[in-house]
Amino acid sequence: MLLSVAVLAQPREVVLSIDDLPRGGDNRDANSIEEVTAMTKKLVGHLKGTNAIGFVNSGRLPALGEKGLQDVLKIWADGGLDLGNHTYSHPDISNVTTPEYCADIVRAEPALQKALSGRKPVYFRHPFLRTGKTKEATQGHEECLRRMGYEIAPVTLDNSDYVFAAVYGRGDGAMKARVKREYIDFMDRIFAFFEGRSLEVFGRPIPHVLLLHANQLNADTMPELLAMMSKRGYEFVSLKEAMADPAYRTADNHLGQYGPSWLHRWATTKGVAKQFEPDEPAWIMAEFKKLQAR
Ligand SMILES: [Zn+2]
Repeated sequence: MLLSVAVLAQPREVVLSIDDLPRGGDNRDANSIEEVTAMTKKLVGHLKGTNAIGFVNSGRLPALGEKGLQDVLKIWADGGLDLGNHTYSHPDISNVTTPEYCADIVRAEPALQKALSGRKPVYFRHPFLRTGKTKEATQGHEECLRRMGYEIAPVTLDNSDYVFAAVYGRGDGAMKARVKREYIDFMDRIFAFFEGRSLEVFGRPIPHVLLLHANQLNADTMPELLAMMSKRGYEFVSLKEAMADPAYRTADNHLGQYGPSWLHRWATTKGVAKQFEPDEPAWIMAEFKKLQAR
């Protein structure tokens, strides 16, 4: 009895990692500096004190210019949040050579280092979470990450926030309200699913890494998202703290075109059966497909 109370009382841990800075993950093309700045201030305002990390594509929005990018990244740094490398131009590892992929990582560094007041970024996040189709490709880029001193930043709580964000970005008031509601509910189901997966793969809860994107949907819903996580018993930790858990030393032998959650990769390594993640509501997918067809 006492033991179960102690287990229940133990806080769960999650890292908030936000990709595609200065903004992205919602298929939008128009980005004024005013729009990006307002979105960033709102998002970072909610993330203060959460140990979150933003992963930057320094060539994502050339229209911002060098100064505009630095101004936006300064909002993150001033908010006490860390920054990591997410490449310069977000290439798909399957469509470029290893030297091209590595050159894109190197090209991202000067802007990042400047934003970190001269410090070198520690973590690297793969675009699309794709780590390579072949052993040669995987080993090739891992070797160049090692040479540059990067640690790979895994994701356990993978999800399709970008689908919701794209529909949200183009919707009217009623549509936006509906997307917000369904998004929080969907993310709650994502947490439940990967909590179960953690028990199946490791026999215990592990610290999670959540992937989100830097866009208006997440800026507008962050208070509700954080409340959902707190309600599930989560505390917000840094990537370094989460990755100190031995689960993160499990081998990742995944080869393939797509980039699944590391929990699925570790399941494969440990011979644990496959499971399918929760689906998005059908109407959201239908709206998303309509937007893509435009
Ligand atoms: Zn990305």
